[in-house]
Amino acid sequence: DGEPTVSTQQFDLRPTAHPTEERIRAEILANPGFGRYFTDHMVHVRWTHNDGWHSAMVRPYGPLTLDPAASVLHYAQEIFEGVKAYRHADGSVWTFRPERNAARFQASARRLALPELDSDTFIASLKALVSQDVDWVPTPASEAEESSLYLRPFMIASEKFLGVKPAKQVDYYVIASPAAAYFKGGVKPVSIWLSSHYNRAARGGTGSAKCGGNYAASLAAQKEAEAHGCDQVAFLDAVENQWVEELGGMNLFFVFRDGRIVTPALTGTILEGVTRDSVLQLAADDGLQPEERAISIDEWREGVRSGEISEVFACGTAAVITPVGELISEDDRLVCAEGSGGEVGKSLRKQLLDIQYGRAEDRHGWLTRL
Ligand code: PMP
Repeated sequence: DGEPTVSTQQFDLRPTAHPTEERIRAEILANPGFGRYFTDHMVHVRWTHNDGWHSAMVRPYGPLTLDPAASVLHYAQEIFEGVKAYRHADGSVWTFRPERNAARFQASARRLALPELDSDTFIASLKALVSQDVDWVPTPASEAEESSLYLRPFMIASEKFLGVKPAKQVDYYVIASPAAAYFKGGVKPVSIWLSSHYNRAARGGTGSAKCGGNYAASLAAQKEAEAHGCDQVAFLDAVENQWVEELGGMNLFFVFRDGRIVTPALTGTILEGVTRDSVLQLAADDGLQPEERAISIDEWREGVRSGEISEVFACGTAAVITPVGELISEDDRLVCAEGSGGEVGKSLRKQLLDIQYGRAEDRHGWLTRL
């Protein structure tokens, strides 16, 4: 929309005077967990109503100075993304379909009345940060070690004003956090709590935007899940409470014995996952019949009980593909998988990881070098 583009060269570099000691970084990279440690730098770009995007820089990681009246703190005008950087065997560093995250970030910005950041600047910002902090990208010692550098772009309304209106000052940041494999000791099926008290999103709401408020609103349901011994929550639609939508942070797939593979259609209430789209493509490549359509909770339960549905899995950037082991609700317990899950999910998971880590041909042109 005519916003000036910031090119990679336009990120002013202000290196930290206190880089993390190599020994300490090595300790962190040996056991990074998820989202606990951050690299030495961050990207910052400011937007103002009058001047558009400007002052792009890579600066030392550290606390933000934010006015207490900044509108993000009161009205949650905020969006974010999640992207990973993968180190290949030759040492080069790549990311997966970042143009999809850029497009989703723009769609989220439109929904939250934030300024759009063009795709080139979004991708340039990832490159600028990763080239500065490249030593923080883990080197996986084996295929089982799915370590990566998790990149978290986000945008906040920082104008000092308590009126409820789109902010005239906005800040965009990217921070980076080394991440180990989501599941230590191999993939284990997750148990899912079916939320009956809470819905995640309604038609016309913010379900398809990646905004902080959606996640804040999911926490009570997540607590309920944990109180019932479950790992994650599954949400149903807000109108009829019968159509399967997604998990708190992953999309869902149902594998049928006859070769169909079904995922809920994008109706505006679920997040358009990059992994979801990639799974649809890889499944079609494998000769399966992908279907994006409504699937009811009854079809899920009856399909698993009759054996027509042979596998259920969840997918997302963080955990790739994760089998759903059981579905638990107030009055029902459904076992969907034992051991390490079904063969279709396992195969799609391996195919995705092999592309991301450069072990298989990137036949769809999904990788971008950082
Ligand atoms: N649904 C929700 C609600 C999510 O937060 C995520 C994670 N971004 C996903 C699905 C999966 O999306 P992606 O494959 O792009 O990570």
